Amino acid sequence: MAKEFKPETLCVQAGWTPSKGEPRVLPIYQSTTFKYDTSEQMARLFDLEDSGYFYTRLQNPTNDAVAAKIAALEGGVAAMLTSSGQAANFYAIFNICQAGDHFISSSAIYGGTFNLFSVTMKKLGIEVTFINPDATEDEINAAFRPNTKALFGETVSNPSLEVLDIEKFARIAHSNGVPLIIDNTFPTPINCRPFEWGADIVIHSTTKYMDGHATSVGGAIVDSGNFDWDAHADKFPGLCTPDESYHGLTYTKAFGKLAFITKATAQLMRDLGSIQSPQNAFLLNLGLETLHLRMPRHCENALKVAQYLEKNEKVAWVNYCGLPGNKYYNLAQKYMPNGSCGVISFGLKGGRDESIRFMDNLKLAAIVTHVADARTCVLHPASHTHRQLSDEQLIEAGVRPDLIRLSVGIENADDIIADIDQALNA
Ligand SMILES: *Cc1c(COP(=O)(O)O)cnc(C)c1O
Repeated sequence: MAKEFKPETLCVQAGWTPSKGEPRVLPIYQSTTFKYDTSEQMARLFDLEDSGYFYTRLQNPTNDAVAAKIAALEGGVAAMLTSSGQAANFYAIFNICQAGDHFISSSAIYGGTFNLFSVTMKKLGIEVTFINPDATEDEINAAFRPNTKALFGETVSNPSLEVLDIEKFARIAHSNGVPLIIDNTFPTPINCRPFEWGADIVIHSTTKYMDGHATSVGGAIVDSGNFDWDAHADKFPGLCTPDESYHGLTYTKAFGKLAFITKATAQLMRDLGSIQSPQNAFLLNLGLETLHLRMPRHCENALKVAQYLEKNEKVAWVNYCGLPGNKYYNLAQKYMPNGSCGVISFGLKGGRDESIRFMDNLKLAAIVTHVADARTCVLHPASHTHRQLSDEQLIEAGVRPDLIRLSVGIENADDIIADIDQALNA
């Protein structure tokens, strides 16, 4: 089940293909452990000589079926699920960076990722340089160092909604001999497939549209299989030289295009253990089965709401890359011609205090620390998700203090607009 099917079919059918007499629906393998007949069989699994399940901290069949669906949707060769989007981003970087290494990230990223990169990774001895994603290629190239191991960005940044020029970023990464890692959470593979534009690794917070119903925190890492690690073996010793914790096995030699995901599973999951629960993977799979139906509705509703806000005299500014005139409209049309996502940001003329008053008056749209699910919701990043950032860091992350993040759901657009209207006029 792969390239011959279109995304809609992959959403419904990919990943789990039962044989005769097996359950039609992906089962929840709620088991920590798996049985073998001989000691030798189990030993071969521990040496990575055979593939198979032995302990759910490393791999679980429910998770693998869902990961396979996400890999098929992105057009990748392999994927793994993690317990959260944060874990996915951490693993994607930590799989190729160690103490003394450096990587470069767009500054327009999710607040949690910003903290992970700038604070926690630093404590591990891994340094990040943030660059403005709209900087010129020369400016971004100038941030590379001999120990730089990756370039990172978000397709559509949360919450600043800047659209990344993926082709530009891929060119820069590859001319410096490093992979481009893209967080594709907001568009999902329904609206954008970064591998088609040169990205090497894609990560997701599956917590958002993929689950889509706000039931399960989760993440995913997908590998395109396209980056030639051995061509830059000096930069990636973890993948290209023997791993002493697996009797001197070399991932690129033993697993070829599956090296990145195999190493992240065999080493990072083994040692750090941020596995997604099979129960959550099951719920994620249900969400994925309708992703192709929900994404167009999110985009359609968001555009209607953005157009309404743009015309309202109480609104100071609206940021939605689907609006002609938006700074990122052309990039959005190029990378996401069918729409980007359902998230809009805007500010009110009354500023920060007025924004808070408006939010408190909403009835249908709820104030929640969430984004990108079926129910319309709002958040004030400066008071909530980005609270830990200084004003300077807020601006650097593209978050104005008055910014309201509105995640437009799949209810009736007129009802959503009526709710916003009454809250603006209350
Ligand atoms: C939410 C989010 C994350 C973090 O994901 P969690 O599942 O909450 O850990 C990472 N990147 C983006 C773009 C997000 O929106």
